[in-house]
Formats: sequence, structure tokens, C-alpha cells
Amino acid sequence: MHQDTRQLSLLTPSGHLTLGNYLGALRPMTLHQHQVACFFGISDLHAMTAAHHPATLRTLITEMRTLMLACGLDPTHATLFQQSRVPAHTELAYLLECTTHVGELNPMTQFKEKGRGRPMTRASLYTYPVLMAADILLYRPTHVPVGDDQRQHVELTRTLAQRFNTTYGAVFTVPEVMVPVTGARLMDLADPTRKMSKSTQDGAGVVRLLDAPDVVRRKVVRAVTDSDAGKGAVRHDPATKPGVSNLLEIVAACEDIDPQQVAEDLTSYAELKNRAAEAVLGVLAPIQERMPSSPRGQGTSRRSSPMGRSIAETRPRPSCGRRRRRWVCSADALGEGAGTVASRLERGEEGSADLVVLELANGRGRRTAR
Ligand code: AMP
Repeated sequence: MHQDTRQLSLLTPSGHLTLGNYLGALRPMTLHQHQVACFFGISDLHAMTAAHHPATLRTLITEMRTLMLACGLDPTHATLFQQSRVPAHTELAYLLECTTHVGELNPMTQFKEKGRGRPMTRASLYTYPVLMAADILLYRPTHVPVGDDQRQHVELTRTLAQRFNTTYGAVFTVPEVMVPVTGARLMDLADPTRKMSKSTQDGAGVVRLLDAPDVVRRKVVRAVTDSDAGKGAVRHDPATKPGVSNLLEIVAACEDIDPQQVAEDLTSYAELKNRAAEAVLGVLAPIQERMPSSPRGQGTSRRSSPMGRSIAETRPRPSCGRRRRRWVCSADALGEGAGTVASRLERGEEGSADLVVLELANGRGRRTAR
């Protein structure tokens, strides 16, 4: 990885983290955190796009914070933050909404599947891809490690960044999406035609990072396969054998090998399921060992945990008058040190995202919106 690389990724506390979250995003997030600048966030505002219970959301945020550390994110190297504590996210989102066309939001999968045509759908479900673009662009990452389901959002982010840059001048870095070779889209074990999702109500096909070993075994053993019993039934063919291919993909991602290679060693579905259960348990055991006995237990208080400290350090200042300039700075300064960005602002340097955002937000831009 080039030393100028900056990575950013976000997780939404809309349920308990799953094996899909780990293999598709969290594990890739840990890979380069000691070599390049990394920003990892809890996108709690996104969890409010659907009905939620505030107390449950708070508990999920606490659990997610602890799990992110247990999964290996290192707050002494990476910057970890909670989206709702950095108001610049929502500010930039509005500016980007002024850059987005409704025709770009209509085809977004979440809205299409969960909200379109329902009068009680929250407006935020429609606009959250723009908030996500703001989440990303604010930190100027060059790369965004995500699972396959997030490609669409990163593509929109790129489109908006390019359009904004063309309209107002070179402001944003246009990031590349980084999707893992295996484990980019784990499917639900009980219904391998749908994504394994943390917000699925019936969790029979969803392996959660904190599931007990017997629960994991049971879910894997009951995974839906097919009735093919002949020679060569264990093969990687997602179009015609989604269940079997998903299990092969899980083993491959856990063991970091090719799914075809996994299939070569196996002759029956029972063998495949045993291998998958062992592979998953091998991945989950060290994470669970690093967890305090309860998510509310040791080290999870906002102030005392490393994640809590990074959140506390980046806690933005009030968003009024002259102070506004300082907290937009503080969001941008997560990787550079507030001093550097503040002095750049003092000098009135051109070409910095914070300057343009501020100028536009304050309605006294040197660059004029076309
Ligand atoms: P979310 O669940 O929307 O908070 O997503 C957090 C990260 O996990 C994103 O990078 C997703 O792409 C990734 N992710 C979520 N579900 C899966 C899955 N089933 N397989 C692989 N990656 C996933």
C-alpha cells in the first residue's frame, strides 16, 4: 500500500455484528491499519433510518464499539469515531444533497427494497446514501474497504465527489472501492438467495460474532443446500447451487483459500458443513476471547475504553458562529492534527475540503455555485 493511502469504513449498529460484517469488512479493515492512515466509524445515524428503540440502539453502539476492538482494530493507529459525535457529517450531507439528483437515489437498493411505496417510510431512508457519501468524503480516503453490497453507495460517492469537484473546484478525493476476493457477500444460511444481514429478524441463517459455539454449529448444520447427492455435488456454482457455494465461500474466506480448492477436498454435504462449522468457530474464538464478559463490562465506558478516548478527543465543538470553523476542522483533522488544518485555514489555502465546505455553508464562497 502506498504511504499516502487513506482508508475509511463504517458499520451501522442496526443489529448484532455478523460473520458477513467480519469477513466482508472488519477483517479487511484491520489489514493495513498499521501501514496507512485509517478511519473507522460507527454510523449510528444510519441506524435511525428505520424504526428503532433508543435504548436498544445505545446498547448496540456499546457492543459494536467493544467488538470492533475485539476484532483487532487498533485505536493507537487507526482513528475510530462515532458518526453522531461529529456534526460535520450531517452538514456536509446537506451540501451533497444539493449536488445529488433524485434520479440517483430512486434506484438505491435499500430504499427500493424497504421503503418505496410505503407512506410511513422515513425520508432519511431515501437520503441516507448522501449522508454516507458525506461520511466518506469528509475524511478524504483513497480507499473504502466494504462488502459487495456497498459498491452502489461508494459508486454514488464517487459520482458526487466528481460532480462537486467539477462545479466548485478540486475539493474531494475520489475514493476507490476495495472489496475482498472471498467473503464479499455472505448469504443467509437459511435462505442463500438473500444477504446475511444483521437486521434480519429471524436469525436462523445469520451467524453473529457473539453466537455461542453450539449455536454456530446448529446454524451451519441446518444450512439450506440442495437435493443433489451425486458425485461432484460439492462444487462452487453460485447460480445453480447458492447454498453449497455459500458454505464453500465461508470456508474459503475463513481459511483464506480459494472456494474451488475447498470443494476439491470434500465429497458430501455433511463433510462440507462440518468443515464450515470448524472454520467459522476458528475465526470467532479469538474475537470472543478478547470480549469482556459482558458488552457493558470492563473497558467499555465511553471515557475509559480506547474507542471512547478517540471519540472523546474528536468530540466536535458547538456549531455556531465563529466556532463552526473549528469543529469542521476537527472532523477533517482526525488524521492530520487540528493544528495543521487550523493553520491552513488561517492562511486561507485553496483546494481544501474544509475551506470550500465552510465557504459554501456560510454563503460567502469565493467559488460560485453554478
Ligand atoms: P452494514 O451491515 O450495512 O453496517 O455493513 C457494514 C459492512 O459490512 C459493509 O462494508 C458491508 O458491505 C459489510 N457486510 C454487511 N453484510 C455483509 C455480508 N453478508 N457479506 C459480506 N460483507 C457484508
